[in-house]
Amino acid sequence: MGFGGIPIQRISQEECTALFDEVVAAGVNFIDTARGYTVSEQFIGNALRGRRDKFILATKSMARTREAMEKDIEISLANLQTDYIDLYQIHNANDAQLDEVMAEGGAMEALLAAKAAGKIGHIGLTAHGLSTFERALEIDEIETVMFPYNIVESQGEALIARCAEKNVGFIAMKPLAGGAIEDGTLAMRYILANPAVSVVIPGMYCADEVRENAAAADNAAPLTEDEQARSKAIVDALGEHFCRRCNYCAPCTAGINISGAFLFEGYLSRYGLENWARDRYASMSVKASACVDCGLCEERCPYHLPIREMLKNCAEKFGE
Ligand code: SF4
Ligand code: SF4
Repeated sequence: MGFGGIPIQRISQEECTALFDEVVAAGVNFIDTARGYTVSEQFIGNALRGRRDKFILATKSMARTREAMEKDIEISLANLQTDYIDLYQIHNANDAQLDEVMAEGGAMEALLAAKAAGKIGHIGLTAHGLSTFERALEIDEIETVMFPYNIVESQGEALIARCAEKNVGFIAMKPLAGGAIEDGTLAMRYILANPAVSVVIPGMYCADEVRENAAAADNAAPLTEDEQARSKAIVDALGEHFCRRCNYCAPCTAGINISGAFLFEGYLSRYGLENWARDRYASMSVKASACVDCGLCEERCPYHLPIREMLKNCAEKFGE
């Protein structure tokens, strides 16, 4: 089990530094962050001062051109206060963007140059689309793939198995499906029961989460019948049309907090927290009913969710 660096953005530098004492104590030695996670690289760099050598460091950049990637690698090295990053990833590329990365003048040139110069150790890709995952497996320079994998998102399973066959590292992201799965222990157990998974990176921001996830990861026994039944119940409850809260759909033309609306709807419909969900929904300044049907969000959603239809359902349930 590794450490996912997204939630670092929600805590202070002091809390982050203290959190890494817990991370070390739990035996976690893989950290994943990104140029795009605002302060995450910087906070982690500060927290690792004097203990950089205890960790395998991974970060990533949305740069697609050689020039932009060269700049981002230098910024990551400075932020993380190191002269070597173990794994540098192309962040959330789709097929067209992967073409750009691999073309002349593309980001791959910068990554290979940085690798040759000893600034980075390995090159990886993170993606949300199956076709991009599949193409990455045909590109020899790509040594790891990060893709969503969890109880309700097993669409990558065949490709994950191919990673193992090809000796490509597989990094499981979104173990809780963006917060849709509430049972963190079961979520971790499900993912780590697959031997083709190299590492799973739950995002963590407090000591309890580190301890709970580490305990789940320590239990290497196959899933029990009860755990299998509970996993199936989660799949049945969520179906395919659920929001992973990645926010790639933003900004909404009408100003709706799309993932927030879906989160509250989930609490209303699935988790029996009606009052809490209604209160939180009421505090949203723009309600789901404000959708003007432009469709732009649906073009941006990597999961091709029928967002407009889902928002209509949300507006009906909350009555506004
Ligand atoms: S379709 Fe509706 S929810 Fe989507 S961006 Fe347009 S206004 Fe916002
Ligand atoms: S609607 Fe799609 S893009 Fe928006 S947060 Fe949910 S999963 Fe992500």
